[in-house]
Amino acid sequence: MTALPFDPEEIRRLSQKFETASPQAIIAWAVEAFWPDIAISSSFQTHSLPLLHMAIHIRRDIRILFLETGMHFWETLFFRETLEMKWNLNVVDLRPDDRWNNFLQLHWRELPHQDPNLCCYLRKVQPMQKALEGMRAWITGIRRDQTRERAAAQILEILPEGLLKINPLLNWTEAEIEAYRKKYDLPEHPLYAKGYLSIGCAPCTLPVKPGEPVRSGRWAGSGKTECGLHTEMFKDRSLTDIHPSLDLGQLDTPEP
Ligand code: SF4
Repeated sequence: MTALPFDPEEIRRLSQKFETASPQAIIAWAVEAFWPDIAISSSFQTHSLPLLHMAIHIRRDIRILFLETGMHFWETLFFRETLEMKWNLNVVDLRPDDRWNNFLQLHWRELPHQDPNLCCYLRKVQPMQKALEGMRAWITGIRRDQTRERAAAQILEILPEGLLKINPLLNWTEAEIEAYRKKYDLPEHPLYAKGYLSIGCAPCTLPVKPGEPVRSGRWAGSGKTECGLHTEMFKDRSLTDIHPSLDLGQLDTPEP
């Protein structure tokens, strides 16, 4: 992997400076600094579109990473396909490692409810870690007003192995997202009007009632608020990191 063109102190200084910059200015800086080793992730829901719209107006062929977990609403996949064709997007679908195929097929129904962290790790975190290997920069759409974890994020964050995570919308609010959507007449996910204000995988997403927090329909009632892409889990590189009870040490090959 090529070394970052900035040292950690420089990144901290820039991140502070970007606190008052527009998302477009931050994306433009990132594309200029890291092209072609840069990608943007998108969940292709209604509120993801402003960031996508900004990014493709700065660099039309920017690589867009979509987590094809195998558990999406068909409406999400249809929306993703339609937008890819309409906006001529460079989308890359990320799928779980083939090694987990049998396991995920066998346990697809109960795993999201019995062990959502393991499910998210296999379907989202690992595929994203793999897709970002060799990249230098990763643009995400997280905002400080979304969750407690995201409130503590920085606009520029150095992740393990030198990857720079860039969060251009960190200071935006729901109202600013809405205003941008209206200004550019951006399309809406087919389930948005049915109360699905924040959409992830089908087994873990419910519609929200008027006045409820936008993300309250995600893993509702489970206490889980994040899939792991934007938490410490993203630094975990093995199953035993997220599942200490799996004592794989017992499985070491015995000495002959
Ligand atoms: S959001 Fe639900 S179904 Fe999707 S990966 Fe996470 S636990 Fe599994």
